[in-house]
Amino acid sequence: MTLRGSGSFQRDRLPSTPAYFGSIGLNLRGRGPWRSGLCPFHNDSTPSLRVNVGSGAFRCMACGAHGGDVLEFHRQRTGKGFVEAARELGAWVGSR
Ligand SMILES: [Zn+2]
Repeated sequence: MTLRGSGSFQRDRLPSTPAYFGSIGLNLRGRGPWRSGLCPFHNDSTPSLRVNVGSGAFRCMACGAHGGDVLEFHRQRTGKGFVEAARELGAWVGSR
């Protein structure tokens, strides 16, 4: 993968799914691989967001927001680009 600058993305440094959602104060309920939580992408009153605790994949049953991992979730939530979002999650190693 070629990106500007000299840093590199280290996927294994991404926080675990429970750690990430815990850090943003999003409570995941339930048991098994798919958990439920309040969706931050729309004004959610019931837990419409489904999150896979293993992969970090997420999908909102109400507004349709979806993605494959916590980095994608973080990008959509913050509106940040790949490098900046990865750096915030501690998964970007190097200068820029
Ligand atoms: Zn939603």
